Amino acid sequence: MPLSLDDFENDALSTLITYATFECLSPMFDAEWVKNGQIDAAINLLAEWAKSRQLGGSDVEIVRLEGRTPVLVITVDATNDDDATMVLYGHFDKQPPLGDWSEGLAPYQPVRRGDRLYARGVADDGYSTFSALLALEQLEMAGVAHSRCVVLIEASEESGSPDLDAYLDHLAQHLGRVELMICLDSSALTYDRLWVTTSLRGQFNVEVTVEVLTRGQHSGTSSGVVPSSFRILRQLMDRLEDSTTGRVMIDELYGPIPDEVVAAAEDVTLEFGDVTAREMPTVDGLELMGDTPTQRIVNRTWMPTLSVTGMGGIPSPEIAGNVLRPSTTATLSFRTPPNVDATRACAAVERALTTDVPSHARVSVRSHAADGWFTPALQPWLSQALDRASEAAFGRAASYSGEGGTIPFLASLAKRYPDAQFVATGVLGPDSNAHGIDEMLDLPTAVAVTNAVSSVMRAFSERNGTP
Ligand SMILES: [Zn+2]
Repeated sequence: MPLSLDDFENDALSTLITYATFECLSPMFDAEWVKNGQIDAAINLLAEWAKSRQLGGSDVEIVRLEGRTPVLVITVDATNDDDATMVLYGHFDKQPPLGDWSEGLAPYQPVRRGDRLYARGVADDGYSTFSALLALEQLEMAGVAHSRCVVLIEASEESGSPDLDAYLDHLAQHLGRVELMICLDSSALTYDRLWVTTSLRGQFNVEVTVEVLTRGQHSGTSSGVVPSSFRILRQLMDRLEDSTTGRVMIDELYGPIPDEVVAAAEDVTLEFGDVTAREMPTVDGLELMGDTPTQRIVNRTWMPTLSVTGMGGIPSPEIAGNVLRPSTTATLSFRTPPNVDATRACAAVERALTTDVPSHARVSVRSHAADGWFTPALQPWLSQALDRASEAAFGRAASYSGEGGTIPFLASLAKRYPDAQFVATGVLGPDSNAHGIDEMLDLPTAVAVTNAVSSVMRAFSERNGTP
């Protein structure tokens, strides 16, 4: 029997609602997370819930490495004779509230309206622990002989998963031969089918500082003598980006775009129209980038882009004096195509910024890079399983799409387990507002995704012939 909304309400909802009241911010947003104890409160709650479930041969453990956020590891023994492991991944750390939520909603006071639950972290990614275990329970209740499963729920994802690699090293033996990796932290274009994410862009930040003076000078005495740090920064940025078109000009940031990516983007445009532009709160009359909706989808998922996300050394306008400022700093945030080595691309950008600097100004850079990811080709059992799973849970076949964002751990998992098959899916559909105000979990979608995941795990367990 597939899970119903009633089952989800009876088995998981009250614990999910309690979880929603915790301010378990990701460490990047709460330097005092150890002292504040919310991460611990959340992991204890999830672990207690996991222990209360009826799974044969299961072990629930909170694993802690010194100085790192804890991870929840739930291991369920195989009931078939397969020696491979399937891993289900999620996280329970949260983004900050971001701003004032709409009337009647609040980040840590969950509210249910119809079949939607509003609170920070419910969809990104609090539902994942519940979904993972209920999917497994369903197999056991149906008497399906299943492969070994490890559910791994971490608490540093919203900070870029700085702790995850250490745990993957620590747990390498325990995880064993991982052949299927299901990530429950991705998005959905609609709520009417299973959406599988096939690629993510990489990302790197370069903080560049141009210095011309050791202290600020009266602009009346220094301008015309000392070059402006802002002008030099502009010259340097002209090496990175065509300021007319926005095209990134560093070759190392480009990779070949597979034909099927363009074909899939065309399909999405045909069915849904201009999806990438639709939800953008643009000012009236703004001309968008890309000539067509399809081009915008490809731009967002397989093209490099530059956004200036921070500036330093510049006073705000109301306190701006007539000063030639000593320096200008910019944070340059690049997104890179899924098949580009972000570290190598980042090094190329640093070279462009620091070689032959105009006027011999002093330039320094600081950077951090995370690779993108694209799914290995799906084996026939998996692509069939995804379609069957989506048909059974939603009434129509699965769809595939690339994402413009970055989930750093998928790239590191893909490197660790080059032979594993990946399914990145999730509940983050229209109006789910992950990272924004009014975050929302569509409960029927959580149930359907759970059922679809259960059916994919069954197909994995039976991939070498029906037992
Ligand atoms: Zn997430």
